[in-house]
Amino acid sequence: MEEKAGITKENLVELIKILYQKIDEKKAELSKLDTEIGDGDHGFSLAKGFKSLNDKLQEYASFDTGEMLKKCGFELIKTVGGAAGAVFTGQAMYYNNNLKEKDTLSLSDFSGMLAEALAQIKKRGGAQPGDKTMVDALEPAVEALASAAESGAGFADAFRTAADAAATGAEKTRDMVARKGRSKNVGERGLGYKDPGAASMALIIGTMADYFQSHGM
Ligand code: ADP
Ligand code: MG
Repeated sequence: MEEKAGITKENLVELIKILYQKIDEKKAELSKLDTEIGDGDHGFSLAKGFKSLNDKLQEYASFDTGEMLKKCGFELIKTVGGAAGAVFTGQAMYYNNNLKEKDTLSLSDFSGMLAEALAQIKKRGGAQPGDKTMVDALEPAVEALASAAESGAGFADAFRTAADAAATGAEKTRDMVARKGRSKNVGERGLGYKDPGAASMALIIGTMADYFQSHGM
């Protein structure tokens, strides 16, 4: 199938700036969710991670797009830490097999990368759908993105479908009792609360959809 135009270095740089702004704006809200069922740091640690990415953009200027994405992954593993940092391990690992020396990333590149991130989170953290974690937002998003990529959709449409799937998945975590992570300790008292990691995942994918849409991609 013919590939649509892809994500360039400029897109990636802009995306990081926008993601940092958005997460920074919502960090208190995300941490409040984590206060209800965890230790209250989620929004702040995610914002810290994206701030350090944002601060490193100059340093990344000489890399190709694929290499830059790998650096971003490792930087986020280092700075976000905790359970949420794990998502970026898969992203960084995907580079080694698929993104080397790529200047433009296709929708299948992105879709494959998120699928690998999901696989690594599940493998390392042992969470399955229904355990009230970010997996409940990421898995439906990955599935939506894969079928959109297969059907030849553009970035904006594909990410919009994925963002809707992630938001629906995150909303459903309210009805779940956590079986992984810190909120496991809260048990049934966590019913009614949205999982912070699922919420931030939906926010990130939704922000990407907005970006692609506003850039006619
Ligand atoms: P920590 O729990 O170390 O404080 P964060 O607060 O940044 O880390 O992230 C919490 C989120 O991490 C949870 O809302 C949940 O979505 C996710 N999470 C926790 N444990 C797991 C796991 N084993 N697998 C996948 N996601 C997990
Ligand atoms: Mg936490």
